[in-house]
Formats: sequence, structure tokens, C-alpha cells
Amino acid sequence: MRMYDLINKKKNGEELTREEIDFMIKEYTADAIPDYQVSAMMMAIYFRGMNETETLYLTEAMAKSGNMINLSAIEGIKVDKHSTGGVGDKTSLALAPMVAACGIKVAKMSGRGLGHTGGTIDKLQSFPGFTTEITVDQFIQNVNQIGIAIMGQTNELAPADKKLYALRDVTATVDHMSLIASSIMSKKLAAGADVIVLDVKTGSGAFMKDEKDAVALAEEMYRIGNDAGRKTIALVTDMDQPLGNAVGNSLEVKEAIETLKGNGPADFVELCVALGVQMIIGGGLATDQMEAESKIRATITDGTALKRMADFIAAQGGDADFVYHPEKLPKAEIVEPIIAAECGYIEKIICDEVGLCSLVLGGGRVTKDSEIDLAVGIVLKKKVGDAVKEGEVLADIHGNDAEKVREVKERLLKAYKISSKETRTPVLIKKIIS
Ligand code: URA
Repeated sequence: MRMYDLINKKKNGEELTREEIDFMIKEYTADAIPDYQVSAMMMAIYFRGMNETETLYLTEAMAKSGNMINLSAIEGIKVDKHSTGGVGDKTSLALAPMVAACGIKVAKMSGRGLGHTGGTIDKLQSFPGFTTEITVDQFIQNVNQIGIAIMGQTNELAPADKKLYALRDVTATVDHMSLIASSIMSKKLAAGADVIVLDVKTGSGAFMKDEKDAVALAEEMYRIGNDAGRKTIALVTDMDQPLGNAVGNSLEVKEAIETLKGNGPADFVELCVALGVQMIIGGGLATDQMEAESKIRATITDGTALKRMADFIAAQGGDADFVYHPEKLPKAEIVEPIIAAECGYIEKIICDEVGLCSLVLGGGRVTKDSEIDLAVGIVLKKKVGDAVKEGEVLADIHGNDAEKVREVKERLLKAYKISSKETRTPVLIKKIIS
């Protein structure tokens, strides 16, 4: 088999076979096919597309390019949850303890922040001593004992995707539905869970700005997961404004803890419950929405979710006392309010701009090796649909550098659009594909 022939075939709009896709991925992972040929193939796929079967073959080939994690030593149904990324998306921090307290086994691979979006691994660094660099054996043991373990993505997990993603990044071939779907799902399949719940974000703070594109991506990933033999459910959810109120690592951890104590913002609680319901039903612990929802909500009122979070933090080396005393979490030196100059209703909060403001404050990485400041970020006091009076606080900026706080103050004020007419709270859960 020759890579030249495969590129030519795809260039002419023909379908690639499983053998051909397996050959390309295997040889590329082994550095036996050069980047320039795979770049040409990515561009051919970009313009000619792949059908459902080819997309499934590509996903499976990438999943098998490294270690497929075997979670069979964990009793019961293992559930993973994946978000395509957003601003203020601290869902895993609260959701994992909630569903684990119901009896679901959460075996989760997480990533670091990317661009204006935050990452679960960075947020968890707010707990001194916490590590996601655990062995697969420890990972399995923790899921068995506590019901939750979170691991960073290892180099052995879907290495073909790692190489291919870096290549797509520099050849303008990232934004293709089948390539994105196969990239995400290859890592999910390799991570070994039986049930995969996907949270596909849409809106100005999301990777998929357009709702139609987000639904198409969700449907594609749903199909791949189920065709690969994993029960997969996909939700399409709003990311046109930040999720919850807190944006920034420790601030989000604090909000997740408050949520487990019953003091969470309404939209954040709604999303945790909606995803949790799918995890509980997918995991076989409830048969209908009402039963699943009441189980999840009970973990907040009876304190079991909070306790589960503390156990999980301690099991991965973190100081669990911070869960009960979130005032110990890293705090910024400066807290600067931004004030509404007029009265009215919040019409829009430019979501990616809020994420970028947090990045400017030091809450995200500018280069892949940048140190992040865990303490900084933004706490929104007003969200879309809220009424606001002149002089009221729209948001608080938490910073450690006066110059950066000044810059963010100007930008954040512009990110808020106030209307004289009443506005509506956006619909959070746009679609459930199950
Ligand atoms: N995230 C991924 O993991 N892969 C993509 O292709 C895009 C986003």
C-alpha cells in the first residue's frame, strides 16, 4: 500500500477502506509516513469529507494507536463525561462527586486549559498536593474505592491523534466536523469507559459558535460512540455566556464546592443535574429522569457529594481540608468591581472575551509552558436576563497585577451589553441526543 495512492483516492472523492485508514494511522504513528503526505490527506479529507463509516474507522484506528486502557478491574458500569470546553465550565468538579455519591463509577481523563477555555486539571491544582499524574493501577484502585478518579492524558493515549492534531493545527484543517469528532472520540474510546456523556458547547465562548454546527458535531460523536460499542449520549448546551458566575481556577473550585453545599448558581446546577441524569440512567442506576434527578439532588442535601469530593481530593494527594474550608484556596490581592453606567437589562455578555480577560489576568496559558495564577479571574454578579441599576456591580475582577486589572476593567465593561428592553435568560440545554 502506498500513501500516494490513498491521497489520490481521497482527492478524487473516493471512500477509503478500513485497511487503508489503519495503514495510514499505524505508519504515521511510527513516523514511517512524512508529515507532508498526511497534511495533503487532511486537506483532501477537508474538501472531500469522510462518510460515517470512514469516520468510525479513523476514530478506532487512532484509539488503538496507543494503549487502550482496560477498566475491567473496576466493578460496575464506568462512565466518562466530556465537555468540548467553555468559559467557567467547572462542571466535572461538582458533577463527578454528585454522581459518584449515587454509586456511578467516574473514570475520567481530563485536559489542561486551551486558549480562552479553562481545564479541569489546572483547576484541581488549587488543592495543594493534588496530582493527576497517577498510574493506571492507582486510577483503577481509586475508582473502585471512592467512585472517582481523574487522570491527565498520557502520551500513550491515542498518540496518533496527538500527532495529527498538531499537524492539523498548522495546516488549517482543525475545523472539520469529522476530524474533530474522530479526534475527541478516539481519546474517549481509548480511555475505556462503558458510557460516555458528551457536553457539546455552543455560543461565543465555545469552539462551535453556531448551534447547527454544534448539533452536527454532537450527532457525529453520538454515532461514533454507539457504533464503537459504547453507550454515548450527547447534550448541546449554551456557552453564549460563562457558565455559573466564577471564571478562573480557584474561583471556580470555590463555586463548585458551594454548589455541593447547595449554594450553586441556577444555570450551573441545571447543567450538573442534566448531565448527571444521563450518567445515572446510562450507568443503570435509574430508569427515568425523575428518579435520576431526585437521586442527584439528594447528594447535595445530605452532604454525601461534598464528602465524596473531599475523599477524591485526598486520594489524589490533595489537602481535603480545603473542601470544608474553601476560604483557604488561593486568593487574589486585588478585587476590583466593574460598575454599570446605565440601568436596563443584560442583553449579552461576550463570552470568549470574559475567558480572554481571565487569561490576561494570568488565569490561563499564553504559551504551552506558561505558569498560571490560580487565584485570579472574574466573578459575574449579573448574567443575561438580569435587571441592573446604574451604579450596580456587574462583575468583580480578581487580580494580582494592577496594570492587568486596569486593562481587564475596560475590556470587561465592553463585553457587557445592556438593553433598555427586558431580555430573557437563555435556554441552557438546547438538545439531548440519546
Ligand atoms: N478537541 C480535540 O480533542 N480535537 C479536535 O480536533 C478539536 C478539539
